[in-house]
This record gives sequence, C-alpha cells and structure tokens, in this order.
Amino acid sequence: SAVTPAVTRAEGVRVQPGPRVIGVDVPVPVRDGRHVPYANLDYAASAPCLEAVHEAVTRALPYYSSVHRGAGYTSQVTTGAYEEARETVRSFVGGWRRSAVVFTRNTTDAMNLLAHAVPTGTNVVVFETEHHASLLPWKRAVRLPAPATPAEAVSAADRALRESPVGSRLLVVTGASNVTGELWPIGELARVARRNGARIAVDAAQLVPHRPIDMTSLGLDYVAFSGHKLYAPFGAGVLAGRADWLRAAPPYLKGGGASASVGRTTRWAAPAEQRHEAGSPNVLGVIALAAACETLSDAWESVAAREETLVTRLRSGLAALPSVHELSLWGDRAPRVGIVSFVVDGWNARDLALTLSEEYGIGVRDGKFCAHPFVGHLLGGDRASGRDTAVRASLGIGTSEEHIDRLLTALGELAAR
Ligand code: PLP
Repeated sequence: SAVTPAVTRAEGVRVQPGPRVIGVDVPVPVRDGRHVPYANLDYAASAPCLEAVHEAVTRALPYYSSVHRGAGYTSQVTTGAYEEARETVRSFVGGWRRSAVVFTRNTTDAMNLLAHAVPTGTNVVVFETEHHASLLPWKRAVRLPAPATPAEAVSAADRALRESPVGSRLLVVTGASNVTGELWPIGELARVARRNGARIAVDAAQLVPHRPIDMTSLGLDYVAFSGHKLYAPFGAGVLAGRADWLRAAPPYLKGGGASASVGRTTRWAAPAEQRHEAGSPNVLGVIALAAACETLSDAWESVAAREETLVTRLRSGLAALPSVHELSLWGDRAPRVGIVSFVVDGWNARDLALTLSEEYGIGVRDGKFCAHPFVGHLLGGDRASGRDTAVRASLGIGTSEEHIDRLLTALGELAAR
C-alpha cells in the first residue's frame, strides 16, 4: 500500500534541526482508509529514540557481553562501556564526584529504591501534585496540598519541614509537572530543605528531557529519571545522589553482585551501585540512556529554543479556541516545558483522544496521568459536569509546526461538532 510519509528526510523536505529521532512522521491509518504521517504529541509518556542512541547501541552490540564478571575481552569492553555510562550520567545531572549513580528500571523504580533506603522514621514531605511514582512509595509522608503559587510551595515546604518531628527529613518534589508542564522552583526548595536540615529528592522524569539540570549548583540531594522519556528505550532509569543512605540500607534486591562475600553469613557490597544493582544489569539500556544524555548535553540551546517556539504556538492556538481550557496550577505565564493538558467543552477526554487518533493521525494521552490528586484538584471546579479526566499534548525533538497546527485544526473542527 502507498504509505509514504508526506515529508521524509530522503526528499529533503523537512530535515529535523539539531538531534534527530527515529520514527518521525511514520504513516498511520486513519478512519477513511488513508494513511497520514503520525503526529506524535505524546512525548511525556515515552519519547522516540534518538538516532544517536540507535548508533550507540549498534556500536555496542558486537562487543555485547557480561559485565563485571567476565575476564574475556568483550566482557572488559562492555564493563568499560557500562561504567563509562555511569560517569556520563553523573556529568549529565551535575553530580559531584562521590555521588552515587544507581541504574534502575525507571523513575518509579528509582523512587522506590530511595524509599527503601531512607533511614527508619524519616519524615517525608511531598506535594499531592506529584506523579504517583513520587507520591506513593513512602511508608509515612506528610502530603501538602497543591500550592497556589511557587512562593507558596516554598513557604509550605519550609513550614512542614520545620514542624517535622526530630529525625531525618526528606522533601520530594517534581522538577516539571507531567500534567501542566509547569517548572517547580527546585533551587529555592533545595535551600529551604537545607535550612531545615532536610534533603531534597527531585523527580526529574519530565525535567531532564527538556532542560539541563545541575545537582551541585541547585543543591539537590537526589534526582530520579527514566531513559524512555529521554529518547532512549524502555527499561533503564537512574537514581543519582548522596551515597550514605544507600550504602547503609540493605540491598534493594538480594543476589549476585550485591554481595561481597557469602558464607554462613552474607556481607553486602559497600558501594551503593553494587549494593543495589544485583543481578545482570540492563547493559544496552544503560548505554542507550548515556548516549541520550551525551546528545542532549551538546544540544540544549537548540532543543530548548525550538521547544519554546513550538509550545508558544500550541498554547496561543489553544487559547484562541473558546471551548478549549488549558489546565494550569500557577496561571498562563508560569514557566513550563512542552507539556500541555486541556479539556474541551462537550467532549470527554477519552472520546476526544481516540477521535484525534482515528480521524487525524494525532497521538495524545488522556486520563489522569498517574496524578489523580493533582488532576482532581485542577478539575475540581468541573465536578458538577462529571469531568475528571483531561487530554495531554506533549512535545519534543521531532515535533514540527505541522503537528501542532494539525492538532489545532482538529480541535477547532471537533469543538464545532
Ligand atoms: N514521574 C513523572 C513526573 C512522570 O511523568 C512519570 C511518568 O509518566 C514517572 C515519574 C514515572 O516514570 P516511569 O513510568 O518511567 O517509572
């Protein structure tokens, strides 16, 4: 069947500026039997792979072998690549030299590892605006309501930490919201944490694909993120930060690699990485994730500038449609990354998202985005209408003006139905 994307690199019509991703404008079927180039506006769920990631994995594959255990040449090469990836990630997040970089499966796994490692009785403070991955892993946490302004976020965190009982304290907060894209004041929150003898863990799943981050200058104790949102494949994530709690905690998984010696009793490996990475690791996933970190590190200026143009186009287009309402915690002007959620009068989110796919070849997400309390708060005023879900459009490298315009045209048509 004739399923040629309307624009391809071979035709030279549209060359993606800066880093390139695989799978832009792949042909997808729509209801009338035609195929149209896919408008992927669902980067916040999982981003397509960078070409550089594909190349790095292809380069690694001929030497693909066991890590840490083998004496053979390929094992040495693979072990070298795996440990080099750790250094790349450390530098990507601006970690200090002795910080731990533990590879996990994803952000959820990283936050659960941190929850496992916090000293018993730690007072955790978390905003109810968090993604469930950062909201739910804690044994005991004080949940702060959605703050009305960034300044209120800082003062509420300050108060809650100050009033925490004696013991370790940990503030958990997102870097960029997966619902509204709004950027949280993590530098100020880190200062408040420090002032109250607390640590701060940042859920950077939606931050690192869009903005550079520097743990050292921001004063962050931990960051967590996922490879699959960072233009690498599924299955590899990161918890980076202070080593002491991780070194003191029992291994997250018990088994080979986590043990230093095993006899009648077991002595666990002391370094945080070994201690919490039992079993054969996801070597290719980690190499891929590190390649994504390297590529983005070299391209922030162009990536951020392009995203700014696209998100402005999207948001001003949505604002011009009277029946479309964007969700926002801190108002129109709050700084944000390329993630926009909205509701449309007369449509429920599921039907709208499916219609965008089936009639226009546009991919968005609908629902509560694993942030039920936050979406409930944002849509609180709509309870009377029974509306409790929204549609989310999210952008990244590979998004074009045409994708944005197609969404805006579709919404204009659907709103008028
Ligand atoms: N935190 C945020 C802000 C997210 O957006 C997501 C994913 O949607 C997660 C955590 C969880 O990521 P993962 O499913 O990769 O563990």
